[in-house]
Amino acid sequence: MSFGFLERLRKTIGFRLTLWYAAIFILSSLALFILAYLFLASSLRQKDHELILSKLKEFEVQYRTGGLKAIRREVKLEQDAGKPNTFFIRLADSANRTIFLNLPDQWADFDLKSLENGAGSRQGWTRLKSKDDENGLEIATTQLANSTILQVGKNTESREDLLENFRGIFFGGIMVIIVLGFSVGQFLTRRALRPIRKLIFTVRTIADTGKVAARMPDIHTGDELDELSGLVNLMLARIETLINGMKETLDNVAHDLRTPMTRLRGMAEMALAGAGPLEACREALADCLEESERVMAMLNTLMDISEAETGTMTLKLEQVNLPELLTSVIELYRYVAEDKRIEVQAAYPLELQLTGDRERLRQTLANLLDNAIKYTPDGGQVAIEVLDQPQQVLIRIKDSGPGIALAEIPRIWDRLYRGDQSRSQRGLGLGLSLVKAIIIAHHGQVEVASQPGTGSVFTVFLPKQLSITSL
Ligand code: ADP
Repeated sequence: MSFGFLERLRKTIGFRLTLWYAAIFILSSLALFILAYLFLASSLRQKDHELILSKLKEFEVQYRTGGLKAIRREVKLEQDAGKPNTFFIRLADSANRTIFLNLPDQWADFDLKSLENGAGSRQGWTRLKSKDDENGLEIATTQLANSTILQVGKNTESREDLLENFRGIFFGGIMVIIVLGFSVGQFLTRRALRPIRKLIFTVRTIADTGKVAARMPDIHTGDELDELSGLVNLMLARIETLINGMKETLDNVAHDLRTPMTRLRGMAEMALAGAGPLEACREALADCLEESERVMAMLNTLMDISEAETGTMTLKLEQVNLPELLTSVIELYRYVAEDKRIEVQAAYPLELQLTGDRERLRQTLANLLDNAIKYTPDGGQVAIEVLDQPQQVLIRIKDSGPGIALAEIPRIWDRLYRGDQSRSQRGLGLGLSLVKAIIIAHHGQVEVASQPGTGSVFTVFLPKQLSITSL
């Protein structure tokens, strides 16, 4: 294993989480053991003390009733009865000189002389340490009549043995606890990080293949990672739609530019090769100019739409007199409408002010009216209606044209989309996308209601007040 690999491993969340899990597990086990150990040690000690005190009481009563003789008799009786000689018993006179001593054999290594030299008080507890090991002798002292001292004690050996066994079990099991801590930690970490690994796999697949079709598998755990993978999938779906939209637009632009460019080239070639009169040459040049203007218009509109959609379109806000603006737009299309014997009816208030970009709003109304007249057959009708509402203005443009199929309605707002039946008409398929982009830039809305055969109604909603800060 190289140093670099270890360094990378150390930085992974998985490794750090495993370490945390293991550390918490091991420390908790340790704390639990220490608590259990302290509890056991204290209970054993208490039990020993209770035993010593009850023995002390027993001998105190014996002494009171029969003096030293009674104590000797009691000890002998116990020995004869085969009871284990576990208690240390000492009787001392008022000068602390031993007058009776019952000493179990294995206690020889305690410094009992120190008791005569005054170790321990005449009342309470004394502890003597063994000369060889950790064991101790715990002695309870009480004073009898005539200042005689009675001492009863017990070796702590059996207690220490038990505690040592307990310690041994723990230290023997510590390796098992460490191994268990790390394996459980690693198992839990792997489980918890599974969605993250799937996320990494998905993102890597996208980075390697360049295809955004990859998705995170559903994990249905209902936790934050489940939410994250759902959001990543949603984001990927949006990006895919955007990329597809961009591709489609690019294809359409390329396709729509090719026709006028081919025509331009053809006309220019004809003009160059032609040995005809100067007049024919001029005509070809004029056609070239017209065609290039069409291309320029198309490119400008595309730029306008993209500016409006990305929010970078700068609106020159001013107070616009809507009736005046509408009258000028209708006037612009008067001849075209007359040409097709289309009656344009208009109903709007004499005075209606709103805040907006006059030229952009003119473009919007002109595009909608242009479509209405363009798609309405000769002799049809177009009606414009304006409703003044408290907060907004509603502009409705109704025609008696062919209408739009339900399936087509969502697509008419797309850039470069042209209805199948509209191919015979002039147009770039950009009018409605520009209308929508401008209206949205004005914080308004535009919608259409249409049925094939009964005409279409385009409705624009515009807020009356629009401040620079709300843009
Ligand atoms: P263009 O008119 O240049 O084709 P537009 O973006 O203005 O592009 O319109 C997109 C499509 O919506 C049109 O090709 C046409 O199919 C449909 N459309 C727009 N306005 C009308 C209308 N008033 N009546 C019927 N169809 C319409």
